[in-house]
Amino acid sequence: MKQEVTSKKVFIRTLGCQMNVRDSEVIGGLLARAGYEITDDEQQADIVIFNTCSVRQMAEDRVWSAVGNAVNREKHRDSPQKAGTVPIIGITGCMANNYREAIFEKAPAVDFVVGTADIGKLPEIIKEIQKHKGSLNEKKIYETDAEFREDEIYHTGFRLDKEHAFVVISEGCENFCSYCVVPYVRGKLRSRDPEDILKEIKADVDAGISKITLLGQNVNAYHWVDKNRDSPQKPGTVPVFTFDFVKLLTMVNRISGLKEFTFVTSHPKDTSIELFKAMAELDKLRKYMHLPVQSGSDRILKMMNRRYTRENYLNLAKSYREIVRGGELTTDIIVGFPGETEKDFQDTFDLVKEAEFNAGFIFKYSPRPHTEALKLPDDVSREEKERRHALILELQKKISKKLRKKI
Ligand code: SF4
Repeated sequence: MKQEVTSKKVFIRTLGCQMNVRDSEVIGGLLARAGYEITDDEQQADIVIFNTCSVRQMAEDRVWSAVGNAVNREKHRDSPQKAGTVPIIGITGCMANNYREAIFEKAPAVDFVVGTADIGKLPEIIKEIQKHKGSLNEKKIYETDAEFREDEIYHTGFRLDKEHAFVVISEGCENFCSYCVVPYVRGKLRSRDPEDILKEIKADVDAGISKITLLGQNVNAYHWVDKNRDSPQKPGTVPVFTFDFVKLLTMVNRISGLKEFTFVTSHPKDTSIELFKAMAELDKLRKYMHLPVQSGSDRILKMMNRRYTRENYLNLAKSYREIVRGGELTTDIIVGFPGETEKDFQDTFDLVKEAEFNAGFIFKYSPRPHTEALKLPDDVSREEKERRHALILELQKKISKKLRKKI
């Protein structure tokens, strides 16, 4: 039921990945259901939420400066009746889990900090802040400790895009790649109940959406086990209901009215020939695979804790091309990881040549809090990172162009 609220315009600024895009939509849905109005005009908003990303330092720096701008905006606003007021400011997303209450010290204008698994509590938290804002009992609230989200938060029916929808199938990641902050800020891998995922997609399709992207930080590690539910596949055995990624894709493919779907992001160690076969067979599944390799050097891959070798990866890429005929293959690469020598870099360069990705996203390593790699000296100079970045980017551009021409 809608509740009445006084100051009700909410602006949500999304930074970072597609998971955050979906999370912002979920937050918008929860707040709209509680009577707030979601606006795309930050200047007019009573409440400004920064849904943040901690994957790269640059993304965090942008948030700190955006918070400063939100505080200062009153100086530039022409509406006299609102002059002097500063919006309620909140931080959600990975930075909330990364810095917790320390955010209040770094940015005293922030009123609330809400972690990735706590977003279901936002309507109550904002209501509480509003109740006391401007009084002697003004409050700052932080909630960052929940481990699980309630599935219910995905069912508000609030969608910003009327043709395409992101659907979260799993949250968190427990791979602990040594450069990555995600396991520390998003928690352990949790797969959602397949029934609930299918229910969400069917509701989207009923609302006119025809394209879906299934989301997970490690999407192809999706695995659901329910010991309380009978398994229709194995009558007479101990009733354990299991559901893996390929099975989920098969069920999604059967949804009538859905025209196309895809998934991101996959980890090579969880990528199988069965998955490629499913990709070749399922008619609605886009023939597109984003498979981050990160490095072409076995030594660096080991230091990154990626749990595959250069050879494993190239074999996977070869099988993908053979089985998923005409399929696109894209990747992520990090240059300048601690200790990366010229020889390691050359290995990556050669792998890019050999794998012939349709597109590649090349990043320069930057140390992240909590991670294992933080303990290593960040010893590749900025200039050298730039050089390696430019070389791979140039190579990838040529390959992408060549493949586009071929098509
Ligand atoms: S798979 Fe590795 S890089 Fe991807 S989210 Fe998990 S820890 Fe981070």
